[in-house]
Amino acid sequence: MIDIFTTKPKKGEPWDIVIIGSGPAGLTSAIYTTRGAASTLLLAGDIWGGQLMLTTVVDNFPGFPNGIEGPELLKNMRAQAERFGVEFIEKNATSVKLDQSPFALSTNENTYTAKSIIIATGADTRWLNVPGEDALRGRGVSSCAPCDAPFFKDKKVIVIGGGDSAMEEALVLTKYAREVHLIHRRGELRASAAMQKRVLENKKISLIYNTEITEFKGQDKLETVVLKNNQTGRVTEFAADGAFVAIGHSPTTSIFQNKLDLDEKGYIKRLEKDGYKSATSIPGVFVAGDVHDVHYKQAITAAGYGCIAAMEALKYLDKPTPSW
Ligand code: NAP
Repeated sequence: MIDIFTTKPKKGEPWDIVIIGSGPAGLTSAIYTTRGAASTLLLAGDIWGGQLMLTTVVDNFPGFPNGIEGPELLKNMRAQAERFGVEFIEKNATSVKLDQSPFALSTNENTYTAKSIIIATGADTRWLNVPGEDALRGRGVSSCAPCDAPFFKDKKVIVIGGGDSAMEEALVLTKYAREVHLIHRRGELRASAAMQKRVLENKKISLIYNTEITEFKGQDKLETVVLKNNQTGRVTEFAADGAFVAIGHSPTTSIFQNKLDLDEKGYIKRLEKDGYKSATSIPGVFVAGDVHDVHYKQAITAAGYGCIAAMEALKYLDKPTPSW
């Protein structure tokens, strides 16, 4: 620990900056705010780390020519932020008060005050919301192949989705499952060319296009899925031991409803105003990463947004940013 960067507020005084979220956006923010000598508390969530904790190899984060496991990348970022003195608390923020100064943020145990806030809460798994999905979650229905694939050794599994997440889930599953069927609602994949190529070249994966899941069925565990071909209208039942839903994510913004301006999909509106680029509708509250980013959603862009929000929070507090 380098003590010169470690600052904490005096008892009863607010933190300079509270960051909510511990993915690449929040952790990068913390590296910058602590190095800017701002006392920084990071509310990391009951389970810290976010989506990258569920990822296997990340091949496109610069600086790792042979790739790096998602959890290892996050642990490195956390260690770097802790080296500069961030106070890291593994609790969810359960409510915020943004109509007062300083702002207030609560967990189930404590309330903290802050002169500035950086929201980097990321996004949560989206589900299909069809019959049987909830009841069979954890009994064959999953959203995390890196977590659950070993349970499906020599089994038959399906993956739902046409984006990079679905490709990644399918590829992970081929290491364990006997056969993997990728089911996509359209006639072409959305995933990047590189990921598509890896999937199309893998003999264990077969593709089923123009098809939607309308129901998951099974007594104590998943047994079949009901498929509907949206071109022909034909409905069939398809046997599967496992089903991995990989249809994207929704922003984690429930505690900010009616407190900040959100768009129609619930993403926080990132505003360019008052000389800032990561502003929200409340001055002093900044935003970074997948919680506002509808388009890019990469670890590297989240980290970049985290850097911007941190530099702007330091500017808001009238603190200089170290340039290296
Ligand atoms: P995504 O790109 O939004 O893809 C979601 C997929 O799910 C789409 O194919 C979509 O179909 C389908 N879908 C959405 N709602 C559906 C529904 N109700 N029923 C059936 N299908 C549905 O999400 P993602 O794959 O999670 O990727 C998000 C971002 O992270 C992307 O920018 C991606 O490049 C990035 N990512 C990168 C990597 C990597 O580089 N290794 C890995 C994972 C994610 P349509 O195509 O018809 O819309």
